[in-house]
Amino acid sequence: MEYISTRGQVAPLGFIDAILMGLADDGGLLVPKAVPQVDAATLQAWGNLTYAELALEIFTLYIGDEIPREALQRLVEDSYGTFRDADVTPVRRINNGLYVLELFHGPTFAFKDIALQFLGNLYAYVSKQTNSIIHILGATSGDTGASAIEGVRGKEGIRICILHPSGKVSKVQELQMTTVDDANVLNLAVNGTFDDCQRIIKELFADVAFKHKYHLRAINSINIARILAQTVYYFYAYLQLAQQGQSERMNFSVPTGNFGDIFAGYLAGRMGLPIGKLILATNENNILERFVNEGVYEPGEFRGTHSPSMDIQVASNFERYLYYLCGEDPVEVSRLMGQFTTEGSIVIPSDRMSQVQADFAAYGVKNEECLDTIGDYFAKYDYLLDPHTACGVAASDRLTEEGEVTVALSTAHPAKFDESIRLRGIEQTYPEQIGALFGKAQHQHQVDGSNAAIKAELERFF
Ligand SMILES: *Cc1c(COP(=O)(O)O)cnc(C)c1O
Repeated sequence: MEYISTRGQVAPLGFIDAILMGLADDGGLLVPKAVPQVDAATLQAWGNLTYAELALEIFTLYIGDEIPREALQRLVEDSYGTFRDADVTPVRRINNGLYVLELFHGPTFAFKDIALQFLGNLYAYVSKQTNSIIHILGATSGDTGASAIEGVRGKEGIRICILHPSGKVSKVQELQMTTVDDANVLNLAVNGTFDDCQRIIKELFADVAFKHKYHLRAINSINIARILAQTVYYFYAYLQLAQQGQSERMNFSVPTGNFGDIFAGYLAGRMGLPIGKLILATNENNILERFVNEGVYEPGEFRGTHSPSMDIQVASNFERYLYYLCGEDPVEVSRLMGQFTTEGSIVIPSDRMSQVQADFAAYGVKNEECLDTIGDYFAKYDYLLDPHTACGVAASDRLTEEGEVTVALSTAHPAKFDESIRLRGIEQTYPEQIGALFGKAQHQHQVDGSNAAIKAELERFF
C-alpha cells in the first residue's frame, strides 16, 4: 500500500515512511493511494474475530507485507493486551435506539489509547529495525499527551516532548502527563490555547531542516497510523451489534474536535462498512458544525467548555476529508487550503454541499445542554457519561430519527472530568489508577507560546 499527500507534491511512500513523515513534506496530509475495500463476504467472515484479530486484518490491508505478519501480530497484541476490558471496546445498550461504544478501557482512560498504544509500539519497532533515534513532538488538548507518553515512556531509542495549554486541561489529564518521571519524557505547559500549541508544532514540523536535524516524529492525529487504528472499532462495533441481531444500518455519533475520530468513521464507510448517518458532534467550538450546516469553514472565537479535548478551532484532519470531497484532486485542495491561509476561511462551492450533508449530520452542543445530558442519563439509565461523550449523545438525541439505531462513541471515562460532573451534583468514585495520581510529584516546564521558546527547550532536551 502506498501513501500520497493531499497536496500532491510528495512521491508515493510506503507505510513506515508515511508514519515517520507525519505531516507531509508539502504541508498536506498523507492518505492511502487507494482505499482498501472490504466486501460483504469479508465483513461476514470477520464476525467472530476478537478485537486484536480484527485489528490485525485491517492493518494488514493498509500495511501489506512491509511488516511481517508475525511481527504485526505481536505489535497488535502488545497494544491491546493492556486494555482492562476483554472486548477492548465493548458496546453497551442504553435503550432501543442508543448504544454506547466504550473506548476508554486503555491505560489512560481515553480513546486516544487505542491509536497511541499501537503507534508507540510501532515507533519502538521501527527504531529497533532501523537502529535510529525517534524524537516525538506533540501537542495535546489533554488526552493525547497522557496517552502518547504512556505509549512510549521508558522505551529505548525514543524521547517524547508534549505541549499542553497551561491550566486548560482537566486536573486528571494534567496529572496523568506530568506525574510520569521517566527521563525520556518532557512536558511543556504553554501559556496559550491548544490551537497555539498545535500551530507551533505544525510550524516546527514544516521547518524541514529542523525536523530532520532532530529526527522529529508526530503523534498527533495528522499521523495516518492513528486514523487507521481508529477505523477498527467502527468495524468491531458493527460486528458486535450484528451478532446481537441488530440488522439496521447503524448511525455513529462522534464527539469531535480535530476531525480525527470522525474521519476514521468516514474512512471505514469508504472501505465498505455500511454506516447510516455519521453524526458529527461538537461543543461550543463549533467550526465543524457550521461547516456541515452552512458550508463555511472558518474559526470562531475560542470557548472554554466542559469538554476541553474538543476545544479546537482549527481541525487538523479536516484537509483529509476536503481531499475526498474534492474528488481526490490535490490541485483543488491546495487552492482551498491556500485560501484558508490567506483569507482565514474556506467557502465550499455550493454544488459540493449536498455531498457534505450526505456524508455528515452535525450538531453543536452548548455547555448547559452537555451537563443536562449527563444529569439526565445518570438519572434515567444509571449510566455516567463524560462531557465529551455527552456531546455525542446529545447530538444523537437531536439527529436520530424514530426507528434508527445510533452508536455513540464514548471517548473518555467520566473520572477524567470530575470537575464538570460535580456541577450536576453527581459524586463518583475514581478508579484506583486515577486516585493514585493525586499524591505524586509533577514534572513540567512552564514556557511562553512562541516558536523560539519551544525550540530552545527542545534543543536542550534532545
Ligand atoms: C481527542 C478527543 C476527542 C476528539 O477527537 P478528535 O479525533 O480530535 O476529533 C473527543 N473526546 C475526547 C475525550 C478526546 O480525548
